[in-house]
Amino acid sequence: MSRERKYTFGPVPSRRLGLSLGVDVIPKKLCSLDCVYCEVGMTDKRGLARKEYLPVNEILAEVKEVIAEYPDLDHITISGSGEPTLNSKIGDIIRGIKQITNVPVAVLTNGTLLNLPEVRQDLLDADIVSPSLDAVSADVFEKVDRPNPKLRIDTIIDGIKLFHQEYKGIMWIEILFVKGMNDHDEEVFRMKQVLDEIQPEKIHLNTVIRPPAYAIAQPVGEERLKEIQKILGERSEIVGVFKETHKTLQHNADGQAILALLKRRAMTVDQMTESLAMRKENIIASLKQLDLGKFIKSYIFNGEEYYQAL
Ligand code: SF4
Repeated sequence: MSRERKYTFGPVPSRRLGLSLGVDVIPKKLCSLDCVYCEVGMTDKRGLARKEYLPVNEILAEVKEVIAEYPDLDHITISGSGEPTLNSKIGDIIRGIKQITNVPVAVLTNGTLLNLPEVRQDLLDADIVSPSLDAVSADVFEKVDRPNPKLRIDTIIDGIKLFHQEYKGIMWIEILFVKGMNDHDEEVFRMKQVLDEIQPEKIHLNTVIRPPAYAIAQPVGEERLKEIQKILGERSEIVGVFKETHKTLQHNADGQAILALLKRRAMTVDQMTESLAMRKENIIASLKQLDLGKFIKSYIFNGEEYYQAL
């Protein structure tokens, strides 16, 4: 596919979702939060208004075209450049994708709008919904997720509980731990209490593994993550870097596919090779065509060279 991909990216290999095609339903970067660890970048304006920010018909037409190229997909994942439930047509998008394909649909959400009945209703047809819950105390929530001032963590937790009661699919809670912010025992034990009340199918523990929006966001070490996992109990598992090569090497992935990925997240050449199942030399050649400084930039994070769309 050589035409510009506006709404889809990847597929990307994901520890949680296998080979996952990303679908972006929100313009960069519209979100109700401004998480210190965000891979997409800082949030200029933390919005709460729901609108059809990107057109449903165009999104569905592109999904239909792209999935024909990837027969091995494990999931189609609605996520991307902001908070997907801010798109007021997310319910139509989920149902539309399910009419096109049997590949299960997952939604990654920050959970901040789940207190709204219409948002819970919109997500009912998804196969997997994974809300984030990086904090359960107001001060920790402020520090890690830098929310829109109208948001209250107690209301968000109530929304997640209600959704889990109404929803027939699988719900995974994701917690991203940032060193010195939400990884102390007091907060983790409070999280345990809340999670015992929610009873999600799984709890995924993550940390900062890609360049964050704010340099202050540092990863939690593996040992501490294991201690936290013990506290949170058997539903919890540590997720993070995942290595799985595609079953077949794609030769037709091009600069547009690379650009679509780099618009959503910074990646190293090896991560792009893995993700797009392209040969490394092809990735390097495509990056040259994308013209460093014109469409993409590069920088060093944790000793590795990352590329990102401008
Ligand atoms: S990590 Fe997700 S919820 Fe947080 S600011 Fe980025 S897009 Fe929004």
